[in-house]
Amino acid sequence: MPTYSHSKLSAFESCPRKYKFKYIDKIKVEGYDTIEAFLGSRVHEALEKLYRDVLMTKIPALEEILQFFDTDWERNWHSGVEIVRKEYSAEDYRNLGRSCLRSFYQRYHPFDQDRTLGLEQSITFPLIGPPGRGKKTSPVYIRGYIDRLAITPEGAIEIQDYKTSRHLPSRSEVDADRQLALYQIAVTKRFPEAKKIRLVWHYLVYDQRLVSTRTSEDLEVLKGETLELINEIESQTEFAPTETALCNWCEYIDICPAHRHLFEVEKLPPEKFKHNDGVKLVDSYAQLTEKKREVERELEETREQIIKLAREKNLTRLVGSDRQLRISLFEDYHFPPANDPQWQVLEEMIRGAGKWEEITSVSHPKLKSIMKKKSWPEELWSKVKEFTGIKEGARLYLSRKRGEK
Ligand code: SF4
Repeated sequence: MPTYSHSKLSAFESCPRKYKFKYIDKIKVEGYDTIEAFLGSRVHEALEKLYRDVLMTKIPALEEILQFFDTDWERNWHSGVEIVRKEYSAEDYRNLGRSCLRSFYQRYHPFDQDRTLGLEQSITFPLIGPPGRGKKTSPVYIRGYIDRLAITPEGAIEIQDYKTSRHLPSRSEVDADRQLALYQIAVTKRFPEAKKIRLVWHYLVYDQRLVSTRTSEDLEVLKGETLELINEIESQTEFAPTETALCNWCEYIDICPAHRHLFEVEKLPPEKFKHNDGVKLVDSYAQLTEKKREVERELEETREQIIKLAREKNLTRLVGSDRQLRISLFEDYHFPPANDPQWQVLEEMIRGAGKWEEITSVSHPKLKSIMKKKSWPEELWSKVKEFTGIKEGARLYLSRKRGEK
């Protein structure tokens, strides 16, 4: 059965190629961990221990929790933990973890604001969209883990999540968060009598508790959007890499088509580097592109001089050594650009005269864009697809290598 999680969906949104490596090709990079993920796991485990003790009516001392964190850190530490931000050491991250736990402990001690209903709760539920939206054929399932499920004395159920991220989200980001809202769908089913369900994030680095709620209408919209995203994933064939600053944290960077060549040639001695096929071709492409730009600049300047001369001397033909140039000087209509309010007025006028069809037609670029975005109804999209072939294409973008000026 097709099963998705919030992190699986996010992987696709952030980079389809990473999604393919991880979830389709199932490539495992043994021993790879980022320090951020490692820190997050250790803090989660310490907070899980804290609330397990509280469930047993034992309130552990802060020192005990910090000791648990330190032991867990040492027991799990391995050489594959990657620190991307080189200005910080592993010890800095460990201290950050301790600081998160200390401020959480001090804020909530003696942990009697609510009662725990579940810790590291695994949930799986079928995602059924509202009529007319999203997937209609085979069911898909959503899977996830709730860090802590709690009930307050007033009977509100809280879906709590711990974050050790250094990004503190804005109100609008929190209100649009998908992860806990998806979990709410499962919690609503499990606790149909719940008076209120709250989504709660503990941003531990900032000692902030952020809260958001969703109405049942919000959840219906979310179901539809999530199913549409799943449809998009399942109809993907390309899985193009999306390069962002997050590539530095990607475990697939050395096999990724966007970075693999750099990794291969970086290891080469200078002589072999210069003779690498890819290096030679890029160097040659860069030189030719520069030459082309120069020639285009010169060509444009020469063109302007020719037109100037032709106008001054009232000539329509100039002769060279073995070529001649015919110059056609003319006047043409000029219209305001499409984003100019004047254009809107003009468009309305032409439409009103019933002549709009004469100047508009379906253009190939527009049709291609619609097919890629799938913004037309599925039925129409499928019919148009019957007339559509697939042609291989390529574009080249020349830029400076990362870190070079
Ligand atoms: S390195 Fe970047 S572009 Fe390549 S798969 Fe990872 S996230 Fe995507």
